[in-house]
Amino acid sequence: MEHTKGKWEVELNRPSSSDYKNVHKIRDGSSKLRLLAEVMTPETQSAINKEEAEANARRIVQCVNSHDGLVEALKAREWIAMDTLAKFRCPTCMNSKKNGHRHDCKFKAALAEAEKTE
Ligand SMILES: [Zn+2]
Repeated sequence: MEHTKGKWEVELNRPSSSDYKNVHKIRDGSSKLRLLAEVMTPETQSAINKEEAEANARRIVQCVNSHDGLVEALKAREWIAMDTLAKFRCPTCMNSKKNGHRHDCKFKAALAEAEKTE
């Protein structure tokens, strides 16, 4: 099953200070009525937790909305000509494109994590 495509939006819920528990909604940006997820304030009365729940909702939406562009930008820089022989190399592990990434290359690991489907 594919995830919901396109931009997502966060709908913040800021109840009065006496109401310590709140739920921020994450919606499909193209169909603003379609609810995709909810981020809840943990069940404590800490003001920090309310702010953290709001930040978490914003973070989820920011990550979803920036993901495809970042993967595209990363792929465009995976192999670049770095020497006079015009050998294409990974900017992180410096291996040549012909030899592929080093097994511990952080660039390769980040791209694999971003493209993981589960
Ligand atoms: Zn590499």
